[in-house]
Amino acid sequence: MSKVVKFGGSSLASAEQFKKVADIIHSDEERRYVVPSAPGKRFKEDTKVTDMLYACYDMAEAGKDFEKAIAAIEARYEEIIEGLGLDLNLDGEFEIIRKNFDGKAGSNYAASRGEYLNGIILANYLGYEFIDAAEVVCFDAEGEFDQERTNRLLSGRLAQCEHAVIPGFYGAMPDGSVKTFSRGGSDITGSIVAKAAQADVYENWTDVSGFLVADPGIIKNPRRIDVITYRELRELSYMGAGVLHEDSIFPVRQENIPINIRNTNAPEDNGTWIVGSTCQKSKYVITGIAGKKGFCCVNIEKAKMNSEIGFGRKVLEAFEENGISFEHIPSGIDTLTVFVHQDEFMHKEQKVAACLYRVAKPDSIEIEADLALIAVVGRGMKSTRGTAGRIFSALAHVNVNVKMIDQGSSELNIIIGVANDDFETAIKAIYDIFVLTNL
Ligand code: ASP
Repeated sequence: MSKVVKFGGSSLASAEQFKKVADIIHSDEERRYVVPSAPGKRFKEDTKVTDMLYACYDMAEAGKDFEKAIAAIEARYEEIIEGLGLDLNLDGEFEIIRKNFDGKAGSNYAASRGEYLNGIILANYLGYEFIDAAEVVCFDAEGEFDQERTNRLLSGRLAQCEHAVIPGFYGAMPDGSVKTFSRGGSDITGSIVAKAAQADVYENWTDVSGFLVADPGIIKNPRRIDVITYRELRELSYMGAGVLHEDSIFPVRQENIPINIRNTNAPEDNGTWIVGSTCQKSKYVITGIAGKKGFCCVNIEKAKMNSEIGFGRKVLEAFEENGISFEHIPSGIDTLTVFVHQDEFMHKEQKVAACLYRVAKPDSIEIEADLALIAVVGRGMKSTRGTAGRIFSALAHVNVNVKMIDQGSSELNIIIGVANDDFETAIKAIYDIFVLTNL
């Protein structure tokens, strides 16, 4: 049995947090490979080291004096080293970093140093081998993650060591230059390492005890999700539920390795299990609710649209030509509606409309803004009658007008479009009917 454990920024923000992390790792000998983030916030108003690095590098690139900014970053690491009483000196590392900043090594390189340095400290503290992610996590010449090469290199390397620390968030391009994943990308590294190690579990340690049924910013003390499938999670994180980087599901999903979200500050909590499939029913019919504001819908009307072959393609072509991705396309007999992100669409709306008239020749086009999409997700829906009915009666009860309904054929989710202003009310009503009342 082996486990890969990834610790997020807040779990490694100070010496005190490092001690908790070491206790967690040492309490289970199966926790063999460790993936750290850069030091995160120690308190609410604090700044993450990754953000400090980006800001510092911006100064370097603009030719400004960045000494004060880099000294502040150095101080963050020194505080940790001192607090742990380590015999470790990062002067040489910072000398190289200063030189590379002067040489304009790029913001990817700059940001990656957060994880790199934290990895060196953690490896030293645990007495584990340090594996630089630039040697084992590969991107291709186009900057896409190279899964095959990474898996080959990484699994070979891990097979040679009983324990190791592999910093998260970055890898290298074929020419050796450092490249990072998108923000929060250490989660992806953890998943890649779990796959390469053929781990039994990928534990992702953070500062909450797992996923919540709904956003705590909207629902006070929402219930925790005990077990969720990869597919359900994908739907929820796509709709904005945080905690885990959405791309981190793919590597472990291919191997059916479960992810366990855990809380560094409450290690006794079981957290949330993310699995391939399960016979465990969720307590409620739904597993979670998530949503996003800021959508526009473009309603396209054309008589006899239903019998015109290629109409849908022409409509989508107009969006494609303008570089806009669509979210949903509910359709009627003579109407087709395209949901798009408002911020992407707004400044191009007239171009898209002109293009639509040119290629699809509709009778009319109407654009509506300030809409929100809400996804109600649950594997339990498939075998339960009346889920949609309950959602809509709950919404009617609180006077929320439903603009759009979309149920995927997998019966895993129901997506609802409402006005931005009704977003919170709608989520509260759905949570209430399924979780609190649980009729
Ligand atoms: N440190 C990086 C960030 O803040 C990556 C991570 O923590 O996963 O985005």
